[in-house]
Amino acid sequence: MRYDAIVVGASFAGLSVVGQIKGKVLLIDRREIGAGQTSACATYLEVAERLNCLESVVDEQREIFVHTATRSVQYRLPQSFCTFNYDVFCRTLAGQCQFEWLKASVVGITGKEVITDKGSFSSKCVVDASGWRAVLAEPDGSRRNPAGQKSVGIECLGQEKREALHFTFDPKVVGRGYGWVFPVGPESRIGVCSYRGGAKLKPLLADFAGDIGVDDHVHGGVFPSAIRPATVGSLFVVGDAAGHCLPVTGEGIRTAIYFGEACGRFVQQIIAGDISLEAGLIGYRDFVARHRQSFVWGKRLQTWLERVPTSWLT
Ligand SMILES: Cc1cc2nc3c(=O)[nH]c(=O)nc-3n(C[C@H](O)[C@H](O)[C@H](O)COP(=O)(O)OP(=O)(O)OC[C@H]3O[C@@H](n4cnc5c(N)ncnc54)[C@H](O)[C@@H]3O)c2cc1C
Repeated sequence: MRYDAIVVGASFAGLSVVGQIKGKVLLIDRREIGAGQTSACATYLEVAERLNCLESVVDEQREIFVHTATRSVQYRLPQSFCTFNYDVFCRTLAGQCQFEWLKASVVGITGKEVITDKGSFSSKCVVDASGWRAVLAEPDGSRRNPAGQKSVGIECLGQEKREALHFTFDPKVVGRGYGWVFPVGPESRIGVCSYRGGAKLKPLLADFAGDIGVDDHVHGGVFPSAIRPATVGSLFVVGDAAGHCLPVTGEGIRTAIYFGEACGRFVQQIIAGDISLEAGLIGYRDFVARHRQSFVWGKRLQTWLERVPTSWLT
């Protein structure tokens, strides 16, 4: 089966790519659209507004607290932040796009052929938006988890609402990392993240949640903390698969959407015959490279945060 474009991963990055393409597009994910939430789903309200996904918004906040071991500081955000429902957000985005849907597990790529457990599909333009696992860009796992390039976070639902967004940088909560509490309707999303990865986070999460009753359903995963190649051979790579997640805070929704839309625009120009595949790959790579420095500085700040004594942190 031949397509104008094949996009692997139907989350923030993949749906943003597909949204820019008018052609015969195959969108593949191993889960139903909106079924695999890993994120706390907090971002600027403007993002949901611009994407016509306001119906997914559950809560809006303007205040943020940053806590350390000895101090709490309250800030007023320049714009409202929101927490949203992942399932509704993704399905609303998908409803604005045109694509053929395939629920399948992607196992690899040979040349222009994407191999799945439901068969093989080919296209000149293939996009890996499969999240931190980068199933096509890094199929053998060799560069998937290099030490020092990933943080790990988990989260659950607390049965009590805490007003405002809270970030806690306190070694008593997580040695090298932070905890968060975000309001979501009458409840809260409570999570912990370790910059070092590999930490046993469940007991830390239980301690951090304290007496806010938490449910048993814990989800989470890896936050890539270093930017990686935006193209690999003739493959476009976007979102967490390309390390488009900001170090320090682990914010990756806005960036996945931002780079996803850019990637989609280049793919659309290729499909329309305006530019060659090579020119599209170079254009996208250059576009990402223009933002590289922000990720590099973010990573330096994160490394600094990992090392400073607690009193400096405060
Ligand atoms: C605990 C936690 C909380 C977070 N909270 C926030 C937050 O509040 N705000 C924020 O901005 N960022 C947050 N992030 C980061 C954010 O979730 C990611 O940066 C973002 O989800 C990246 O989007 P993506 O589309 O690149 O990848 P993903 O959202 O990971 O999507 C990848 C998709 O690819 C599919 N896939 C994977 N492998 C295969 C395969 N072999 N075959 C087919 N399909 C496959 C998956 O099913 C999935 O749908 C959080 C991350 C974690 C771990």
